[in-house]
Amino acid sequence: MSKSPQHNLVMVIDDDEIMRLSCEQILKKVGYRVETFGNGHEGIERLKVVRPPLLVVDIKMPELDGFEVIKIVRKIDPDLVIVVITGYATIETAVDAMKAGAYDFLPKPFTPSELRLIIDRGFERWRLTKEAQLLRRQKEEVERKFVTLVSHQLKGPIGAVKQYLDVLLFTCRDQLSERALQWITRSQVRLGEMLTIIQDWLALSKIDRGALCERNKATDLTQIVENIVHEQQQLPGASSISISTSFAPDLPPVAGDPVSLSMLVSNLVGNAVKYNRPGGTVSISVSCEDKWVSLAVRDTGLGIPRESIPQLFEEFYRVKTSETQNIPGTGLGLVICKRIATELGGTIEVDSEEGSYTKFTVHLPFAQKSVQLPASVADSK
Ligand code: ADP
Repeated sequence: MSKSPQHNLVMVIDDDEIMRLSCEQILKKVGYRVETFGNGHEGIERLKVVRPPLLVVDIKMPELDGFEVIKIVRKIDPDLVIVVITGYATIETAVDAMKAGAYDFLPKPFTPSELRLIIDRGFERWRLTKEAQLLRRQKEEVERKFVTLVSHQLKGPIGAVKQYLDVLLFTCRDQLSERALQWITRSQVRLGEMLTIIQDWLALSKIDRGALCERNKATDLTQIVENIVHEQQQLPGASSISISTSFAPDLPPVAGDPVSLSMLVSNLVGNAVKYNRPGGTVSISVSCEDKWVSLAVRDTGLGIPRESIPQLFEEFYRVKTSETQNIPGTGLGLVICKRIATELGGTIEVDSEEGSYTKFTVHLPFAQKSVQLPASVADSK
């Protein structure tokens, strides 16, 4: 692991000046860098900036006591190793400090070697935690790469099998029994679902690799919306849903490429149709304000339970209700939308009421003046 200058920094917060000085001297002698503070407020402000691996904090202090300091710094840095010192050592205080999130406890008075030992152990613990995190991240990356590799390998053969079945149905339909036709149709549906998962996964991996989402392009979002609406209206599932659009006049182009913007709009409009009810509506609007273009997709469909909203943008998350259980999907569409919006410098938000409506709003920045519109779009303006 690379070593930053912060990696041997100990922060000491104690209102007792003698204690601060002696901690500093003892620890500096064995090569630690030490910063000391006489009260919790100053220490916490500095901790936010320098992020030391280890904090030594006195329990009994005026204003902010050690327990309050622990509570605040735990939120700032969950990996911070905290050693508590106190002159009123009781088992209860030690247990309370550990419960609050301290790593170890040092009763006063202590010898220099006791302090050094506890600090050395604390640093070892911090190093192990960081190493474990790094290994976890590397393992996750290897797993993602493996899934991407397998997806690439599977995409071709699965697509081919699906096409063979298309040909079989087209050429030999008359020779097949009703039962055989049913099995073949079911196989096609399942293969189609597999291909959708693979395509979604590969799209995510493209975003990860930076191969999608080009911010330096300028794209007319209204054109994209119109194309997607046209596509959706051709699909059998959308036949009973009425889709309407409204565009503010003189909309500027957004910063982004047509491929990723189409993916974003297609996922949102596709969901608004898919999770709708027969006879329902989808209203799409594009407006602009303050250097942002906003796309809102509102439907009068199933809505989303309040408790599911925080998980919506997690990989493979799908709302499980009796109404959604038979609707096919991968749980990757919204993850893709969020990644695209973020990569293009924008945001996405959701507002929904179960059983009533869902509205996704995406805010995207205008394209910079220096960015050129593709000729076809520039001519049509
Ligand atoms: P999926 O492929 O399952 O549609 P998404 O990531 O696009 O995956 O959406 C995640 C979940 O969010 C869906 O399973 C669905 O339950 C819910 N959801 C998304 N859009 C809507 C919507 N417009 N109305 C109701 N529920 C929605």
